[in-house]
This record gives sequence, structure tokens and C-alpha cells, in this order.
Amino acid sequence: MKASGFAYLPARSIGDAVAAFRNCEGEARYLAGGQSLLAAMNLRLLAPDLLIDISRIDELRGIELRGDEVRIGALTRHAELLTSPLIAEHVPLLAAAAPWVAHPAIRNKGTLGGSIAFADPASEFPAVALALNATVELDGGDDRRRVAAEDFFRDLYETAAEPGEIVSAVHFPAAGPDDRFAFDELARRRGDYAIVGTAIAATFAGDVVERIRIALLSVGATPFLARGAAAALQGTTLGDDDIARAQAALAGELRPSEDVHVSSETRLHLASVLLKRQLKKLREGGR
Ligand SMILES: Cc1cc2nc3c(=O)[nH]c(=O)nc-3n(C[C@H](O)[C@H](O)[C@H](O)COP(=O)(O)OP(=O)(O)OC[C@H]3O[C@@H](n4cnc5c(N)ncnc54)[C@H](O)[C@@H]3O)c2cc1C
Repeated sequence: MKASGFAYLPARSIGDAVAAFRNCEGEARYLAGGQSLLAAMNLRLLAPDLLIDISRIDELRGIELRGDEVRIGALTRHAELLTSPLIAEHVPLLAAAAPWVAHPAIRNKGTLGGSIAFADPASEFPAVALALNATVELDGGDDRRRVAAEDFFRDLYETAAEPGEIVSAVHFPAAGPDDRFAFDELARRRGDYAIVGTAIAATFAGDVVERIRIALLSVGATPFLARGAAAALQGTTLGDDDIARAQAALAGELRPSEDVHVSSETRLHLASVLLKRQLKKLREGGR
């Protein structure tokens, strides 16, 4: 199928893009890598009147270590997240998740900003942002603000961005020496969207878990922060009993979505298996 007709506007600055979005009388959409948007348009799931191409806006580029956080510009492509030495050193969970996103052709075009803005609950990067307690930078043309990932993903494909606001960057806390990370997912075939996935970030004091955040993808309308499972692990050494308690807590707090392939119960079971596997990996050193 082909997309319905639309107008196309290449934007040179964030200000131009936001103004065009807000002046559009019909539905406007920003075009970044096009890997979700164009597919949805070709399937006639979306039919915007105006596409504002933001892919040439230099202000949206760049990966920078700024003090204790890394600012990653929205146009950073998935493939760059995979290969950047700065990301490997300071945001290793993102680098670990990147190979799980689709296939190389899509990773060469798709952008971090597009993945975060689209907010597909089966996407890897929203869950990583949640696990890492990242903040999403939003640019409204005249002003910039930051929203915690926890508050950003509101519902299915629905975020805290106001109409016209551009996701300009995502800020991730830089990994410290006592931080450990784990990412894994189960999919039918490598490159497919996950049936379920886990992104975990923990800070240790020796062998003891000081802080831990566990985010799951593909379990509902948004990425899910497993607060109960995390609380069960706080102050433990991730012993087998501690892990069993976390699995029980997860079963108490998560009611995963079901689809034609997987029931809610199966998805919960798989999430629990992944959690156990990942926690054992963290116990042994993680990244
Ligand atoms: C076959 C296939 C398999 C895929 N598998 C996976 C997968 O396993 N995991 C995964 O995570 N993704 C997967 N994707 C999606 C892919 O990762 C996209 O690249 C990703 O969603 C980012 O989109 P994009 O940069 O291409 O944005 P676009 O497709 O250009 O835009 C997506 C949406 O976000 C909006 N948008 C884009 N950038 C911004 C911005 N900076 N500010 C505000 N709004 C913005 C657009 O208006 C649009 O609504 C797959 C895609 C395909 C076609």
C-alpha cells in the first residue's frame, strides 16, 4: 500500500520546524529517520497532511559527556549508539540494547529521538531510558524543558510532549564504577519486536545492591517500571532467595497485555524467567 498525499517541508532549525508544526491547519508530523512513520503511513495507520523533515537540523545532533550525564541529540542513529566509544563507556545499557533493535538497515536510519517520541511500548530505548532514570529534553521553539522518563511515557504512543514540541535530546546519567547493567529480551526471531524484554540498572556497594531499577518492554501500553521487584532486591546480594522474592513481587505488580501469540500468563512467566536470568548476570558482574 502507499501513503495518502501529504505536503513536505524540510526544516533548517528547531524554530522553523516548531513554527511550521503550529501553523499547520491539518495534522503535522515530524520526520526523523522515517522508520516508524513511513511504515505507518504506507499501512494507512497515519495520514498526516504535512511532514516536517527535521533530519537536517544540526542542533539535534551530537553526543556529549556533560559532568555526570551524557546528552544524546535526538538525531543520533541506532547504529551510532552501537558503535560510539563514549556510549559504550558511559551509557553501556544503551549500547547493550541497540543490537536488539530491528535490523542493520533500520538501525542506520532510525533515531533515538524518533524511538523516544514514538513511544512504542515494544521499543528497547524507552525501557532503557526508564531503567536509567533518564530525562527527555523537549524544545518548544522558544523554550526547553526536561521531563523524567517516568513521566514522559503516558499511554500507548502517548507522551508528555505538547503539540509541536520536538524531542531535542535525551540525558542519561553517566555510569559510575559501582554500576552494573543488564539487557535481554525474548523475540520469535532476532530483529523482531520483543515478546518481552528487561532493562536493569543497579548500583552496588561491594556485593550489596544499593539501588536498582528494572524496566520491562512489551508488557503493556508503556514501558513498565517494576518498583515492587526492585524494592525486594534493595539491600540484598541477589541471592537465589532474593531473586525468588523479586519474581513473586513482579507477579504481584505486573498484569502484562496479551495478543494473538502470547497470553498474559505466558508473558508474565517469560518476564519472570528473564528477570531471574538477568539478576544472576548482575550478581556475577553485569556489563
Ligand atoms: C521492520 C521494522 C522493524 C523494527 N523493529 C524495531 C525494534 O525491534 N525495536 C525498536 O525499538 N524499533 C523498531 N523499529 C522502529 C525503528 O527503531 C524506528 O527507527 C524508531 O521507531 C525511530 O523512528 P525514526 O527515527 O525512524 O522516527 P520516524 O519514523 O521519523 O518518526 C516516528 C514518530 O516520532 C516522531 N518524531 C521523530 N523524531 C522526533 C523528534 N525528535 N521529536 C518529536 N517527534 C519526533 C514522528 O513525528 C513520528 O510520529 C522497527 C521498524 C521497522 C520498519
